[in-house]
Amino acid sequence: MTRAPLGDPVSDRPLEIAVLTTEFAPLGKVGGLGDVVAALSQEMARMGQSVTVWMPAWRQVWESDIAIRRVPLARPLPVALGRDTLPVELLAAEVGDPAVRIFFIEHPAHFAREGIYNDPATGEGYADNDRRLILFQRAALEGMKAIDLRPDVLHLHDHQAGLVPVYLRTLFRDDPFFRRTGTLFTIHNLGYQGLFASDVLNTAGLPMDLFYPSGPLEFWGRVNFMKGALLYADRLTTVSPRYAEEIQSSEEFGFGLEGVLRSRAGSLTGILNGVDETIWNPATDPHIAAPYDINRLERKSANRTALLSEMGLAAEPDGPVLGIISRLVDQKGFDLFIPQVPAILDAGFRIVILGSGLRKYEEQLATFRDRHAGRLAWSRGFDEPLAHRIEAGADFFLMPSRYEPCGLNQIISMRYGTVPIVRETGGLKDTVVPYDPATGEGTGFGFQDYTAEALMSAIRLAAEVWKTPERLEALRRRGMEQDFSWRRSAGAYLRLYQEIAAERHAAEPPGHVPGPGPVLKAG
Ligand code: ADP
Repeated sequence: MTRAPLGDPVSDRPLEIAVLTTEFAPLGKVGGLGDVVAALSQEMARMGQSVTVWMPAWRQVWESDIAIRRVPLARPLPVALGRDTLPVELLAAEVGDPAVRIFFIEHPAHFAREGIYNDPATGEGYADNDRRLILFQRAALEGMKAIDLRPDVLHLHDHQAGLVPVYLRTLFRDDPFFRRTGTLFTIHNLGYQGLFASDVLNTAGLPMDLFYPSGPLEFWGRVNFMKGALLYADRLTTVSPRYAEEIQSSEEFGFGLEGVLRSRAGSLTGILNGVDETIWNPATDPHIAAPYDINRLERKSANRTALLSEMGLAAEPDGPVLGIISRLVDQKGFDLFIPQVPAILDAGFRIVILGSGLRKYEEQLATFRDRHAGRLAWSRGFDEPLAHRIEAGADFFLMPSRYEPCGLNQIISMRYGTVPIVRETGGLKDTVVPYDPATGEGTGFGFQDYTAEALMSAIRLAAEVWKTPERLEALRRRGMEQDFSWRRSAGAYLRLYQEIAAERHAAEPPGHVPGPGPVLKAG
């Protein structure tokens, strides 16, 4: 490989970064991905980089109040999808200051539906999610060409954008347009890999030898979008250092891709997510009853009173208030938590839960809500303002996750002086320091084993501490003093972008005619 000449222009000018994502809060959000991509993009713009975001024009986008304009194109982008060629339009908007430019891929039949990934009528993924994701990714690449936006780095988030590194090394390999474009793939959750039947490759316009025999996209007889990205992206990141280790260590965390991840260990780093402090700030939060900060912590109790009354919970007998805001899925530890609900209530807690998800958990929560009216409240659905009021009003916040790539709610909780109780895994372990009764140190409560005993001993310890206001306040204050802003993490991403861009430019100096490219090896 030729070395980058000294004074390589890559390091002297803002980088052109194109982000492919299916979520961008608040224009399309299912979980933390939307928060993370929005905050990181904004921080990059603040750091003087040129950022564009590419996402589908979901129905949520149409329902938002941002000003959307149509990008004038000579004709709609012709995007190949299997044997069809679909006409796709581009829409654009600017958000934030300094502005991040967002381009929306418009194809209403595929994107403007009630749900993003899942059909709310069934709770299941849409049957044509493969076509929707392929259309999104190919159209984004075509859109960049149509507006002549040549990215230095494509930042790809989760399997929903996982085919892009594969496209750049196959269909677009000899395309001079992307010659100097490198790729960064970020794993937000390895539990969702994008698994489809093998004929998805025909839809994607990719050669069958990527699949068979034991090709790089093949995974137990199916096509795996995540695996393609893990093998072909220039660099990989995930959202906490601990999770970066865990996913290489065993099938429990790697979900069958641990070997692939180990093969790329030198290119994989864990960068902790931050939280957007303009959105999650108890001093300026427009959704809560009584704004507060570390110097006016006593005002938190007004939010607690308001939350209890809003959720129909009894004021007496008083005891700790435990909040949960979560997708109701196995990953988040509901099979551990639900059988312990009676014991947690017996320990004096009132419980507030916000979220929806698997039917089995929803049914159990509905039963508890009836049986323990006044002590347990459950609000089904997605409700951003209520999420703010729970963070402000609860004493403790529970995350008993089976695994947790990073987790945002424990970080948000600490900012709100709400003490997290977490299972010590992934990002939860990287962000919460477990309380030590001997020294009083810590920022939350932790437990290691995925067992009822371990969970309940952390819960009981929290209940003990609640009875001693000085100890509780010390924990709250320590949490509020932590710095989980995006500044530091964004710096780590920028360094990676610069490395990737410098490598691409060194490999493809101006005037260089692209060679045959790397030979695709079986994964
Ligand atoms: P994940 O991305 O795995 O769902 P994270 O903790 O990383 O979990 O991020 C979850 C984000 O989604 C947080 O901002 C959380 O407040 C939000 N969230 C989850 N469920 C709901 C809900 N039902 N209503 C409002 N916000 C929710």
